[in-house]
Amino acid sequence: MAEKVTALDTVRTVSNWIDGEIRPSESERYGDVFDSANGEKCAQVVMSTETDVDAAVAAAHAAFPAWSRTSILKRARVMFKLKELIERDRAEIAALITQEHGKVLHDADGSIQRGIEVVEFACGIPHLIKGEYNDQVGTGVDTYSMRQPMGVCVGITPFNFPAMVPLWMFPIAIACGNTFVLKPSEKDPGCSLKWAELLAEAGLPPGVFNVVQGDHVAVNSLLTDERVAAASFVGSTPVAEHVYRTASEHGKRVQALGGAKNHLVVMPDADMQQAADALVGAGYGSAGERCMAISAIVAVGDSAEPLLEALLPKIEALKVGPGTDNSNDMGPLITAEHRDKVRSYIDLGVEEGAELVVDGRSHEITESSGYFLGPSLFDHAKPEMRVYKEEIFGPVLTMLRADSFDDAIQLVNDHEYGNGTAIFTRDGDSAREFAASIQVGMVGVNVPIPVPLAFHSFGGWKRSLFGDTSVYGMEGVRFYTRLKTVTSRWPTGIRSGAEFSMPTL
Ligand code: NAD
Repeated sequence: MAEKVTALDTVRTVSNWIDGEIRPSESERYGDVFDSANGEKCAQVVMSTETDVDAAVAAAHAAFPAWSRTSILKRARVMFKLKELIERDRAEIAALITQEHGKVLHDADGSIQRGIEVVEFACGIPHLIKGEYNDQVGTGVDTYSMRQPMGVCVGITPFNFPAMVPLWMFPIAIACGNTFVLKPSEKDPGCSLKWAELLAEAGLPPGVFNVVQGDHVAVNSLLTDERVAAASFVGSTPVAEHVYRTASEHGKRVQALGGAKNHLVVMPDADMQQAADALVGAGYGSAGERCMAISAIVAVGDSAEPLLEALLPKIEALKVGPGTDNSNDMGPLITAEHRDKVRSYIDLGVEEGAELVVDGRSHEITESSGYFLGPSLFDHAKPEMRVYKEEIFGPVLTMLRADSFDDAIQLVNDHEYGNGTAIFTRDGDSAREFAASIQVGMVGVNVPIPVPLAFHSFGGWKRSLFGDTSVYGMEGVRFYTRLKTVTSRWPTGIRSGAEFSMPTL
């Protein structure tokens, strides 16, 4: 942990945003944020205390009654304005993401676009939140349902998408009439304050959106605060499981999205050039730090050799370098520790007996002071190897060979994760059977990263999601609201007296 900054320090400090303003913390703990392309400290972030969290939740709790009763059109208009403001500042936001995370500018910009699409979806909240109505469910009796906001909702987000993942959550939560506390990743926290500023500029009242920076201390106090009604989490599986259990035990609604190992199944009849292009983009884009990155290739039948022939020159041609140079395909990893962890997985794969066909440990860029690794490719991996079983979250593709289509499906279904998967084939029957029988939440057919757009919903199966609902789309609206059903009868003059038997209507 870094020491607390003094007035003479020039490094940017990322603080909390509570009740419509930057709120200094009494915390003595600060974390360092690095420019991952050169290893220099570019900011420091406060590690919030329980008192900070208490203040943020109190602000959100106090703002809830007025915001939840604010007209639905006014809530939607804040979202229309927010969309405009994000678009105005998107180059600045992309530069911030590239500095703190490392991904290439064009990729950072793409992730902002995906987030904007959720804001666009939230603009339609008057229509999305409509209830149902039946008149005359009994004589003179009508029933209608409404979806009401939950209260204070919290969002705990990972480092790999500092713009997109928070935007999966708070636009829908706020449009539904909730108030919100965001706890972003301490590794790239800069964007979180940008959302706070833009929402304030868009006319959101103080207290409706708050940010607490920090680590598990902040997370655990959010999850155990009795004023918090619902928690959304995106991050690694062990933490997702902890968040799910803790929040559930404290009576909260919770959706906790975890890690992944996404398979791309290549059938012998696939267009090998198309499959190879898909693999380099989906495997190495964003340096493999995407929960929907492809990390395992399943070559079915005799597809392995033609696939390798198409793939190797494309891996060779990949440009690795600083994210500020838009001609690069892949930037650095988030921290030195994470780069070392990914490198140790490559060592492990070699020890386990997988064949290291492309070795990213020895790429020229790894000599720089940034946290770079080149792309790596393993072949002949086996299902029991850790390099296949565990999430690496770096630019490492691991190829396994399956004798048949059925063996490929079995392999994918036996894996503990079930976030995304894809099949590359020209055969409609195989594709259809794959989609029907695969135990994975998001499936691509000749589409390597099948991330659903904002008007569908995002979520994995098995140990990639804990809880009942996916994020955004209509699942998001359902998560951030609860159903109330009203049955009413208006006296038309008291025609009959009290009834003592169960009405048969
Ligand atoms: P992480 O689990 O380390 O951190 C996520 C969040 O949890 C951060 O805000 C962090 O401060 C907090 N946290 C960390 N340890 C904690 C603890 N012990 N107790 C309470 N809170 C804690 O994840 P990360 O390294 O930031 O992100 C990468 C992971 O996120 C990968 O596993 C990736 O697959 C996953 N991810 C999943 C999805 C998805 O949609 N399923 C999307 C993006 C990322």
